[in-house]
Parts: sequence; structure tokens; C-alpha cells
Amino acid sequence: MKIHEYQAKQVFRQFSIPVPKGFACFSVEESVDAAEKFSGSIYVVKAQIHAGGRGKAGGVKIAKSIDEVRKYASSILGMNLITHQTSPKGQLVRRLLIEEGVDIGHEYYFSLLIDRPSQKICMVASSQGGMDIEEVANSQPDAIKRLLIDPGLDFPKDEVLRFCRDLNIPTNAEDQALEMFGNFFRLFCEKDASLVEVNPLVLTKSGSLVALDAKVDFDDNSLYRQPDIVELRDLDEENPDEVRASNFGLSYIALDGDIACLVNGAGLAMATMDVIKLYGASPANFLDVGGGATRDKVTEAFKIMLSNKSVKGILVNIFGGIMHCDTIAEGLVAASRELSLSVPLVVRMSGTNEKLGHQILSDSGLSLILAGSMSEAAQKIVSAVRQ
Ligand code: GDP
Ligand code: MN
Repeated sequence: MKIHEYQAKQVFRQFSIPVPKGFACFSVEESVDAAEKFSGSIYVVKAQIHAGGRGKAGGVKIAKSIDEVRKYASSILGMNLITHQTSPKGQLVRRLLIEEGVDIGHEYYFSLLIDRPSQKICMVASSQGGMDIEEVANSQPDAIKRLLIDPGLDFPKDEVLRFCRDLNIPTNAEDQALEMFGNFFRLFCEKDASLVEVNPLVLTKSGSLVALDAKVDFDDNSLYRQPDIVELRDLDEENPDEVRASNFGLSYIALDGDIACLVNGAGLAMATMDVIKLYGASPANFLDVGGGATRDKVTEAFKIMLSNKSVKGILVNIFGGIMHCDTIAEGLVAASRELSLSVPLVVRMSGTNEKLGHQILSDSGLSLILAGSMSEAAQKIVSAVRQ
């Protein structure tokens, strides 16, 4: 789950991580009121969307007066921001963060993420932070430093101190860095984050380290024990079909092909997508209905798949283990009738109550195509949509 920058900064404050003063604003008037609360005369007006790259796309502006705050807030609120991290259609800006300006001395890059091969947390940082970090990673990979940290052990202060020296953090800021990196690490573990990214992390001209930007993603599987984080969810920023699917306990990811697939189990869903590709077509989605799909869940899954107008055919691939093939068959029949299905449907079902499932499908009188193996199923749907 993703959250906005201003929310991530609230979480940072809970972990004693310094961030600039700032307020989330939903209107131009609120933005002006917020700016008037600051003592300085430089303000930063920041679009709040679940994507980075805002600076380069015109979503972050430095204002030198209250009038400029008004001007930038009016132009950014309601704008459709297209950055290299949004979809090509862009994202509507509904919220702003108005911050007190910070005197930047130096910009660092800092992040924490999960390194799956080592089963550790990887601290990644660079002394060349800022808006061109992707370019730094390409042209000077050595400027990006990494340190693997075992989350089961104490925070390794000595190694982190050496890491700070590798980053050329000035000696008089080392204690601040050590404390801050330790706090980021504590946040990462306690809040079940999957990513903490701060770019830029700045050293101000007066020598303090401040997180100027903030991106935090959380592991969806841990949200059940993070009620405070769940409250920060902003559904406006998520794909509506994916939100609808998650409300029904379905794992759905929209893709850009034309063959919809309904599968139980993530591994089988991946394999099904591969086999569709193998026979020369592309999947329109990833959809895992899970182990305990009911008839209603299957019907909802069909509705979500078919709301994608590019879909020209559907491939159902079910392995009946805990899931019974007859349950799926009943769901398929109900959904096809309710939605008056007009695209070809290929069904491959194998496992528990397979015969009963096939019986239900053939008794239904629906014009679906049955297949025995996965490759047969894929070949049949590919040729059906090409007709
Ligand atoms: P992103 O482009 O979406 O990653 O947005 P950022 O929050 O990183 O902002 C983009 C850039 O704006 C930063 O890299 C900074 O250079 C600049 N910026 C943001 N806040 C301030 C500030 O308080 N003072 C100054 N001088 N620059 C800022
Ligand atoms: Mn940034």
C-alpha cells in the first residue's frame, strides 16, 4: 500500500525523523492560510500524488511570497500531472503539501528496501541525490552505496558509521545521520514497510539533516496489524478495478493484452499468463481468485475482467484442491448468464470434483470450449479470439 508524502512525513515525525514544517491542503485558501503560519519567506508548494518525478513535471514549486503560493496552489491543484512514474494518462492532483522552504546545502539519496536473496534489509544511499538519481545510477553506479542489515539483529552502528563515511557525510553530521538512519530502520521494521525512500535527504546550510521528500510503501500482507497505516489509504490514487477486486478478496492486476484469465493460485496465474504468451497472445489481466472462491466471488471476478473493454476472450484455468471444480462451474454458469457473455470462453478444470464440474458446464447449455491441458486451453482461446 502506498501513502502520500505528507502522510509519510507524519510517520517520520512519530519516529523523531526531522522533516520541514508543513500542512496538507485541499484548497487554495487553505494553502494560503498554511503559508501564513510560517515565519520564513520561502514556501514550497508540492502536488500530492502516489508517484515521484513531480519536480520535473511541474508539480513542485518554490514560492517567494504568499501571492506566489496562491498562484502555484491554483495552478497545481486540479492539474493532471504526468511523471515518469504515473501511467501515461497521468494523475489528477487533489491534495497539496505546503511546506516551509529549507536552505539546501547538499542533497543525498537514502532508501531502505527488502533484499530477497539475502533475506535482509538493504540500505541504499548516495551523496549525489536529487532529481537525477536515476541518471546517477546509470552513469556512475559506484556512486550508489549499499549495506545489508539483518532485521533479526541489533542495528549495526559501526557498519552504518562506515557507510556514512563512504557517503562523505561531514564528520559533524555523523551523529545525526547515525540516529536518523537508525530511526528509519526502526520505522521500516515496526511499520512493516516494503520501501522507505527519501530523495533528497538534505544537509541544510546550517548543518542539520532533514528529510525533504518521503515515500513509504507498506506490505499489504501486514496491514491487518497496522490499523493506523490503513487509515492513510487514499482510494482516489488506486486503479478502481483493482480496488473493487481487493474488496472481494481477489488479487487483480490490469494488463494491456486482450485475453482475460481467471485462475486460482498466484503461481498457476503466472504460468497461465506465460502459456498465453507462448501461443502468441497477451493476457489482459492477472487474476487470482484464491483458494476459497465462492460463486459470488467468481461472478464479481467476471464483471471486473469484462469491464476492461480490450478483452476479446476469457481463459479459466482452475486446479481443484481445496477449491471444488463444481463450485467454480456453478459460478461460471451464473456469471455467464448474468452478464450474457458474448466473448469466447475456454475452461480448463482439473482436480477435486472435476467430473461433476464438467457435468454442470455441459448441462448448462452455454457455448463454452472445454480443454484438457494448459497448452490446449491456451491454443484454443488464442485461436478463438483470432477468428
Ligand atoms: P519529486 O520530484 O516528486 O521527487 O519531488 P521532491 O519532493 O523530491 O521535490 C523535487 C525537488 O524540489 C527536490 O529535489 C528539491 O531540489 C526541490 N525542493 C523541494 N523542497 C525544497 C525546499 O524546501 N527548498 C528548496 N530550495 N528546494 C526544495
Ligand atoms: Mn524526490
